[in-house]
Amino acid sequence: MSTLPKYAFFKGQIVPYDEAKVGALTHALHYGTAAFAGLRGYWNEEAEQMYVVRPVDHFKRLLNSAKILMMKFSYTPEDLVEILVKLLRAEGNRTDTYIRPLIYKADEAIGVKLHGLTDELLMVAIPFGRYIDKEEGAHVCFSSWRRVDDNSIPARAKASGSYVNSALIKSEAMLNGFDEGLVLNEDGHIAEGSAENFFLVRDGVAITPPPTDNILEGITRRTVMHLMRAEMGLEVQERPIDRTEVYVADEAFFCGTGVQIAAITKVDHRPVGDGTMGPVVKGLRDLYFNFVRGKLPAYKDWLLPIYEK
Ligand code: PMP
Repeated sequence: MSTLPKYAFFKGQIVPYDEAKVGALTHALHYGTAAFAGLRGYWNEEAEQMYVVRPVDHFKRLLNSAKILMMKFSYTPEDLVEILVKLLRAEGNRTDTYIRPLIYKADEAIGVKLHGLTDELLMVAIPFGRYIDKEEGAHVCFSSWRRVDDNSIPARAKASGSYVNSALIKSEAMLNGFDEGLVLNEDGHIAEGSAENFFLVRDGVAITPPPTDNILEGITRRTVMHLMRAEMGLEVQERPIDRTEVYVADEAFFCGTGVQIAAITKVDHRPVGDGTMGPVVKGLRDLYFNFVRGKLPAYKDWLLPIYEK
């Protein structure tokens, strides 16, 4: 069990966590009319500093989700960064931390709609370790579920309601003995994992589904595409991927803020490559963990140091 946060940003101010409460009729609780972000702050022991990864990009995506859900906020991404810094300084964690901003329809009223409602923002931060245990070698299955479609619930919005789809995929996979599920879209192409983006590597080329295949436009996905191209000299393609391409891939991995970079070493009981983490995933993990802990000077602009020095 994770410990609870000490504080929350709630209704415009930082309050003790226990005071951040919503009413039983809250719209978002009943209808899933909310959207969220998930950021990580990495603790660097030597520098005695916490680095939050690409906060402006996370908040831009959150405000895009707000647009899709017809929410109105006067916050800019920079305003949200300011709130994040205040909250993290109040919390004072000296360990890896997960930050969860949530925007939600706050009215306590019956009636399914998006317009004419009151929008609120809350934000909390908690110490956080791994999202999946087997980051060095996950066994995944193809889900019997399909990914939500842009014409029903847009995957591009990180909308709370769409996480029922993710939860169906995740629980089915775990209860069947796998670490994660891979989900196809209605075209039968690979979309992503339950809460992470997907890449495979074939003949030295990294391939990932395009945003039009009903994926969340992941921030980590963008980071790893850049790192693979600029630091590893790899070609990276965005194109539809068939289910059986992962059966014959040399390597495959998930990426995301939560999952970080997780090697997929088995799919549907078949080894990926030789069934162990391959050189591309290993190299990328090394680069990524150096980046997030502030050890790659060229990428300092993507990191926000939290504590004043
Ligand atoms: N896809 C889904 C469905 C997710 O929930 C997440 C986690 N936010 C991701 C992909 C990865 O996105 P990011 O790298 O921005 O965390």
